[in-house]
Amino acid sequence: MSSPQIVLLPGDGIGPEIVGAAKRLLEAVGEFEFTEHQVGGASIDEHGAALTDDVLEACRRADAVLLGAVGGPKWDTTDPNAPRPEQGLLGLRKGMGLYANLRPVRPSPALVDASPLRPEVIAGTDLLVVRELTGGIYFGASARDGDRAHDDCEYTVAEIERIARVAFEAAGQRGGASARVTSVDKANVLETSRLWRETITRVAADYEGVELDHMLVDNAAMQLVANPGRFDVIVTENMFGDILSDESAMLTGSLGMLPSASLGAESEPGLFEPVHGSAPDIAGQGVANPLATFLSAAMMLRHGLGMDAEARAIEAGVDSALERGLRTPDLATADQETVGTEDMTDAVIGAVSLESAKS
Ligand code: NAD
Repeated sequence: MSSPQIVLLPGDGIGPEIVGAAKRLLEAVGEFEFTEHQVGGASIDEHGAALTDDVLEACRRADAVLLGAVGGPKWDTTDPNAPRPEQGLLGLRKGMGLYANLRPVRPSPALVDASPLRPEVIAGTDLLVVRELTGGIYFGASARDGDRAHDDCEYTVAEIERIARVAFEAAGQRGGASARVTSVDKANVLETSRLWRETITRVAADYEGVELDHMLVDNAAMQLVANPGRFDVIVTENMFGDILSDESAMLTGSLGMLPSASLGAESEPGLFEPVHGSAPDIAGQGVANPLATFLSAAMMLRHGLGMDAEARAIEAGVDSALERGLRTPDLATADQETVGTEDMTDAVIGAVSLESAKS
C-alpha cells in the first residue's frame, strides 16, 4: 500500500515552526508522503491571493491536510478589495466541502491547574464538540429594511443527517465504555431545532452502541461549566456550536493545547489545524507551543487516515512530556522553567518512540 499523502500548509507567523515540528513527529510514527504549499499571507505575498486554485486542487487530491495558522499585522487592511489571509481558510472550507468541525476538549492531567474551573470540576473531562459548519443562520438569507433586520435559519434533513452520522461515528470510534451523543438544540422554541431533534433521533437508531440524549442549548451552556465530565460527544448546529465550542475550549485554559478537525464527505480529505492563530508576537523566536498542532496531527491520523494506534501514541507522548514537567512559556507558571518548540518536540518524539518500542 502506498504511503498516505499529506499536504502541509504552514501559513504565517508561528505556522512554519509548529507545522515543521509536527512533520518531524509524524515521521517518527509512520511513513507519509508530504507536499508543502503556501496559504494565507505567505500566498498573498507570492501569488496575490490567499489561496490559489493549484493549492486547493492539491489539497483535494491529498489524503489529509495539516494547516498551521494564517494572518498577521502585515496583511491587516481596511481596503475591502485587498486580499486577506483568512480568505484562504474560507476558500479551503468551501472548496473542500468541509461541513463538520470537531473540537476535542481533554485537559491534560498535568495541566488541570491551568483551567479556570476547580480541579475537581474539570477532572475526568474528555469531550468532543461536533459543530455543523455550513448551514443554519450564518448562511441563511439576511437583510435590513429601515429599522428592521432579519437573519433566516434554515436546515434540511440531509444536512442534519450527515452531521449526525459524523457525531455517532466519532462516539463509536472514541471507544469509551458509555459512548453517548448529546444533541443540543432549542426545540422548545425553534422549528429548525424540532426538525434537528426528530432527524437526530431517527439516525440514532442506526448506531446501537451509542446512547443519545437531547439538551436545550441554555442548559448545555450551564452544564459545560458545572459538570463537563457528563459529556462525551456534543452535536449541534452552526451558531450554537460556534458558542459552545469556544466555551468548552476555555475549560482547558490554554489556547496552545487545542486541536481541531474539519471534515467533509467520506471520500474527501479533512483539514486539521490548531484552534489558535498565527501568534505574530512570538513568531520566529522558537518558543511556540507545538502541542495543539501535534494533537491536530493525531486527529488527522484518527479521523482522516484511520490510524488510531498512531494517534493514541501521539496523545500519550504529549501527556508524557507534560508529566515530565516540560512547559513552553505559554503553559508555564512564573516559577517554572521553560523549553522552546524544539525541545518540546524532541520530548514528545522521545516518548512516542519509547511507547512504540514497548509494543
Ligand atoms: P493568536 O491565537 O494568534 O494569539 C493569541 C495569544 O496566544 C498570543 O499572545 C499568542 O502569542 C498566544 N499563542 C497562540 N498560539 C500559541 C502557541 N501555539 N504557542 C504559544 N503561544 C500561543 O490570536 P490573535 O493574536 O488574535 O491573532 C493573530 C493572528 O492570527 C491574526 O492575524 C488572526 O487573524 C489570526 N488567526 C488565525 C487563525 C487561524 O489561522 N485559524 C485563528 C485565529 C486567529
